[in-house]
Amino acid sequence: MSARDPIFDILFEPVKIGPVTARNRFYQVPHCNGMGDQLPRGMAAMRGVKAEGGWAVVSTEEVSIDHVTDFGPAIEGKLWDQGDIPYHARMVDAVHAHGSLAAIELCQQGISCANLVSREVPLAPSDQSLIVSSPLQARAMDKSDIRAVRDSHRESAILAKRAGYDIVYVYAGHDLSIAQHFLLSRYNQRSDEYGGSLENRVRLLRELIEDTKQAVGDTCAVAVRFVVDELLGPDGMNIDGEAPEIIAMLAELPDLWDVNISDWPHDSQTARFAEEGYQERYTAFVKTLTSKPVVGVGRYTSPDHMASLIAKGALDFIGAARPSIADPFLPKKIEEGRIEDIRECIGCNICVSGDMTFTPIRCTQNPTMGEEWRKGWHPERIPTRVSEDTVLIVGGGPAGLECARALGQRGYAVTLAEAGPAFGGRVRGESLLPGMASYQRVVEHRLSAFHKLPNVETYLASDLGAEEVIAFEAQHIVLATGATWRRDGKGRTHRTGLPISASAPDIFTPDDIMAEQKPGQGPVLVYDDERYIMAGLIAEKLAHDGYAVTFMTPATMVSPWTENTLEQHAIQRRLLEAGITIVTDRQLVSLDGGTHHACIYTGREAESDAESVVLVTSRISSDSLWRELQTRAGDGTAPWKSLTRIGDALAPATVAHAIYAGHRYAREFDTEAPAGAPYLRERVTV
Ligand code: ADP
Ligand code: SF4
Repeated sequence: MSARDPIFDILFEPVKIGPVTARNRFYQVPHCNGMGDQLPRGMAAMRGVKAEGGWAVVSTEEVSIDHVTDFGPAIEGKLWDQGDIPYHARMVDAVHAHGSLAAIELCQQGISCANLVSREVPLAPSDQSLIVSSPLQARAMDKSDIRAVRDSHRESAILAKRAGYDIVYVYAGHDLSIAQHFLLSRYNQRSDEYGGSLENRVRLLRELIEDTKQAVGDTCAVAVRFVVDELLGPDGMNIDGEAPEIIAMLAELPDLWDVNISDWPHDSQTARFAEEGYQERYTAFVKTLTSKPVVGVGRYTSPDHMASLIAKGALDFIGAARPSIADPFLPKKIEEGRIEDIRECIGCNICVSGDMTFTPIRCTQNPTMGEEWRKGWHPERIPTRVSEDTVLIVGGGPAGLECARALGQRGYAVTLAEAGPAFGGRVRGESLLPGMASYQRVVEHRLSAFHKLPNVETYLASDLGAEEVIAFEAQHIVLATGATWRRDGKGRTHRTGLPISASAPDIFTPDDIMAEQKPGQGPVLVYDDERYIMAGLIAEKLAHDGYAVTFMTPATMVSPWTENTLEQHAIQRRLLEAGITIVTDRQLVSLDGGTHHACIYTGREAESDAESVVLVTSRISSDSLWRELQTRAGDGTAPWKSLTRIGDALAPATVAHAIYAGHRYAREFDTEAPAGAPYLRERVTV
């Protein structure tokens, strides 16, 4: 173990939170995970790994307090009655097993949930529409409703204590909590003692804190999660308005303040839109108003940054969701002086997409996330090799890099050959697009690991053909040769490609633009049928380069899949601010003597004046080497034991999928495949 730099000692001081003490200053704040109460074993194992990795506090996701706020179909937690205790206790035990504190975020979502499962009428301070898209409305709460919410919250807090939790939250953030809805004049138009003056609007939050303290405060700390700014100016909570007044009013009442900006897209901004520490200027004032410990977030992955925040008194705890997902062992690595081993979050929000699509959490950097229980994958440990077999991996993109790293960690003799002048594959070009530099961390982490793995040999500028692969005489061959963007327009809309003639405008692909090929000076049309981030990035780059750019898509908005990464609004806004013309609901018809496009509803056609078109439709696997080697295998002369394609070479997908594919190959290598599904299932017992 290398010695840790004493400047980081401050991060390992214990901190008292009311009646409990955290062993250090690393605090995993509440985060969704797409497992919750529906895949409770998976959720508990994932939280346990965070505690093992050194997070002194490990929190749940949002936990519904009763059927009047059911959150469905989102997969979160529930603590409605005694029957929910066993699954919570499982998580608490997993966290306690490593000496960490378990925190629970109790929540009544008010106008943020439609109660689609329970069919109860949603509750609000005043009659109004829901925040979620729904034709349902919420009804104004009367005094008995307020009493009922307080009673339910109190009952859940008592159950939480019984389940073993050390910290119980009162939630007033993310536009997801009834207590926050009461605080805000835009939602609260009451004329009784719960509306009007600030003191009245704060009443429910104050009562919930007091109730919780009174119910469980003897042994549990009571935390408040509070939105300090909604970035809505005077129309919302803000640091130049009521936020400091509210904190001053309640300053010493809770045992801990967990503060952030809202809503969720603002709190969890991607690296494309916000730097590490982007919340500091909003949360810095909080410690001047309270003597209680304060936790804040900001995608912190730099230990120097963390230590300086504590040293200058800006925060008491380094809060993290994403950095703890990308590297559950981040605290341990700092503690042990292994900073170079930290797997830094790249700020892509693929983790968020799990929650948004109701699937277990996944992470670009950490392929074991969400697989801790069902596959038994641990982020730091992997079974050692069971044979002397050698492996040649062709292609040094994300899939090949992670495959080599994980096989190397198992102890196998691995050779990684890359055709290009540097490792990274798709990430090399993509990380040069506007705001995408953090993606390079995917490459850096793996290259840094190779320094400690003498059994992994790497070669650049090695464009291998079939003869070279065969001559290498490895027992196992992995092709991670990636994919390229299509030039024929084939994609979701045009299943067989577009009619393209010789008189078409100049056609480019994202690969061309990333390789710095320049369209002519005339207008450029970027056509997006992929619907994730690439077309927006290409349009943004071209606009920066001085082109007149039109962004056209058959979708009803720019980059619709990025709603799952909380970026859609920010992307569309950025393109508009860059002066890019946005045309939605139109599909290309042909590139034939001009650029013909049609309305997706009426079929009415029009022509664009674009002189160049960038087609962002789909990608095609680079599989020529695979086909050649398959032919050799077919004639029975193949000298290898196995030949496998992984990542984009098998089917193009996200960087997260490629890393997962590389990791999976390494985990399953030399092991017997289980019968049936390759993971344990959590079954509903009837
Ligand atoms: P993935 O996302 O699946 O990792 P990428 O496209 O990012 O795929 O990376 C594939 C890498 O494989 C690229 O860097 C490419 O240069 C390399 N490559 C493709 N064919 C060969 C080959 N025949 N020999 C060596 N490297 C190759
Ligand atoms: Fe960070 Fe992306 Fe992993 Fe989320 S998915 S933790 S944003 S690297």
